[in-house]
Amino acid sequence: MIRIDSVTKRYPDGTVAVDRLSLDIPDRAITVLVGPSGCGKTTTLRMINRMVEPTEGGILLDGTDIRQQPVNTLRRSMGYVIQNAGLFQHRTILDNIATVPRLLGTPKKEARVRAAELMERVGLDAALAKRYPYQLSGGQQQRVGVARALAADPPVLLMDEPFSAVDPVVRKGLQDELLRIQDELGKTIVFVTHDIDEAIKLGTMVAVLRTGGRLAQFAPPADLLSA
Ligand code: ADP
Ligand code: ADP
Repeated sequence: MIRIDSVTKRYPDGTVAVDRLSLDIPDRAITVLVGPSGCGKTTTLRMINRMVEPTEGGILLDGTDIRQQPVNTLRRSMGYVIQNAGLFQHRTILDNIATVPRLLGTPKKEARVRAAELMERVGLDAALAKRYPYQLSGGQQQRVGVARALAADPPVLLMDEPFSAVDPVVRKGLQDELLRIQDELGKTIVFVTHDIDEAIKLGTMVAVLRTGGRLAQFAPPADLLSA
């Protein structure tokens, strides 16, 4: 479990992005952080993998403060997916995915086999393996982003508005795929969105943040009070 324990983030310019936030993020479920732009969702997500350090409070992973392990070890246990996928533009789709296991020391051939399996898992046609990111649609690129995040087989996936830039029909396909992947692989997923419908569809638990970085509600979708 990821425990966010009374965390505050104040940026150097004085902006309080997150204000005394406490959340217990359950294992093997999708926890959605939802709220209006600027309410601290991205900041919260980035504190979980230490791209941002809290000003006060702490984050525990299975009972241990995340500052007690090397940051690289922590990040290896957490796949990170962002809007527009952030793919390596000069590498093929297969290489984009295989790079991660390669960096972790998996032999080249094995890494490529694994990448091909992951393409299938996220619903990408094998014929796309040799293409470059610019030759794929936005939705296909997001699938590559998800496959790459899964490549190291991390127990945790951090996803920051991963489907916001694609059209509604494609988005629905990606959401369904994510639910299927979650079901099959049992990942712990923290998913950021500003779209309440997406939060309700995907969330096992939904954390509603409000402007100023405070927690308004934390409940399963069926128990959310309309705001
Ligand atoms: P969200 O993801 O909900 O849109 P963010 O976490 O990106 O919210 O931002 C929360 C608040 O912190 C916003 O007011 C934003 O402008 C501010 N903020 C984010 N990053 C920085 C930064 N590096 N320096 C100063 N303020 C920041
Ligand atoms: P996101 O949707 O991820 O929040 P943004 O476009 O809001 O994307 O922010 C892009 C980058 O700018 C992030 O690294 C964020 O931390 C930083 N940022 C956001 N708001 C501010 C701000 N008010 N001052 C400085 N940096 C900011």
